[in-house]
Amino acid sequence: MLRLHDTPSKSVRAVSPAVPGLLTVYACGPTVYRYAHVGNLRTFLLTDLIRRTAERRGLRVRLVQNITDVGHLQDDTAIDSTGEDKLLAQARAENKDPFVIARFYEDAFHRDLALLNVRPADAYPRASEWIDSMIALISRLIASGHAYVGEDGSVYFSAQSYEEYGQLSGNRLEDLRAGHRLEAAEVGQGKRFHADWALWKKAGAAREMTWDSPWGFGFPGWHIECSAMSLDLLGDRFDLHTGGIDLRFPHHEDERAQSNCAVGHEVVGHWVHGEHLLFEGRKMAKSTGNVVLVSDVVDRGYDPLALRLAFLSSRYRQQANLSWDAIAGAARTLDRWRAAVASWAESPSAPLASSYADGVLEAFEDDLDTPRALQLLRQLEKDGSVPDGSKFETFAWADALLGLDLVRQVGQVVALPAGAADLLDARAQARAGRDFAASDRLRDELAALGVAVKDTPAGQEWSLA
Ligand code: AMP
Ligand code: ZN
Repeated sequence: MLRLHDTPSKSVRAVSPAVPGLLTVYACGPTVYRYAHVGNLRTFLLTDLIRRTAERRGLRVRLVQNITDVGHLQDDTAIDSTGEDKLLAQARAENKDPFVIARFYEDAFHRDLALLNVRPADAYPRASEWIDSMIALISRLIASGHAYVGEDGSVYFSAQSYEEYGQLSGNRLEDLRAGHRLEAAEVGQGKRFHADWALWKKAGAAREMTWDSPWGFGFPGWHIECSAMSLDLLGDRFDLHTGGIDLRFPHHEDERAQSNCAVGHEVVGHWVHGEHLLFEGRKMAKSTGNVVLVSDVVDRGYDPLALRLAFLSSRYRQQANLSWDAIAGAARTLDRWRAAVASWAESPSAPLASSYADGVLEAFEDDLDTPRALQLLRQLEKDGSVPDGSKFETFAWADALLGLDLVRQVGQVVALPAGAADLLDARAQARAGRDFAASDRLRDELAALGVAVKDTPAGQEWSLA
């Protein structure tokens, strides 16, 4: 049974679907104003690993991942959601329509996921296409006294109206006050309490990406987007909610308050957060200047799945320190495993090495202990007591979890260029007749065709240069 760490209870707990046999998952998706960096992708991979593990045990998985194309402000750590919309800022920088920017980076996001063998979600709702539902939800929260229209015409959620506020992230309202007192005083906007946040931001009709609402023209806050979409598409009790650790607060804390207050009970069974990715020792972020994209990995000649393997080498709950050396090492392991799997596939078939297969699945089910799973596969690779046919079966089976395309080279016959086979025969005969001048001439002719020949105690061996 799958066990995962749950942030509010700070413990690893069994995942038990609300509807038996069906695992429902909501994953916070990208804000589509730039390419996803490989840190973002590590977080998106987390959801894919959960999904593959659940499916291996026969569960059906329903996965929803949102596309944030409006409402995510530059400074979302500011508790009062001040600042500029990330998409509008990028649209201005590129001098393009914000929706053109959004669709461009959304497409890039899907391509990156495909390169990393991250299987698609069942739905990718866009914030800009979910406005009516957000308005309905906000109206409901106003009607039940959890939200109010502030003096500035924006709608705010009342943090004090939800007793459990802060339980997800461990923040207490009193502590928040200290950190944000200055900010709240400086901003002096229409909310009644320092920790309240905007559900709907009033804006002039002149601003791009605004919608009409019962509170006039404006745009939604970022957190309400995830409440509306998850409730609409997964219902008022779903099993897992995933995201990067930075989303714990305020994004998920606020989402939990909104959703739970709207329906009157706990909506999410399990909150799963992936730790951040570091690159060469520092957090990967635009502001740090160490952003690496999947295209950078490909440009350096690596299979993007080497990146996936590098991610699997550390557990999602640890900060992972990625480096070009780590990616190169993962690429070598990937090459070696694919070649080994192809050669084992030529051996007589044999059953799964079940102790290894069970161990790999148990490692995944134990809060995604992917380093342990990889360790077991390294042991299996070297285990002389397991027939090659079993090794092939077991690696192919494990690949449904790993997603590394380990069987890619199976059955690939390496073709010799035309004429090379005759030259190789002639050279073998020349050597048998100790005619070394002819043998050297034939080696040069083969080299000209791109075939390298090496003499070994077992005879000549060739490879494609
Ligand atoms: P964004 O597109 O900025 O909304 O972020 C998409 C996802 O990436 C969120 O779940 C973030 O928590 C996550 N994220 C951001 N930076 C990192 C990082 N350095 N390592 C891992 N995940 C990250
Ligand atoms: Zn979200």
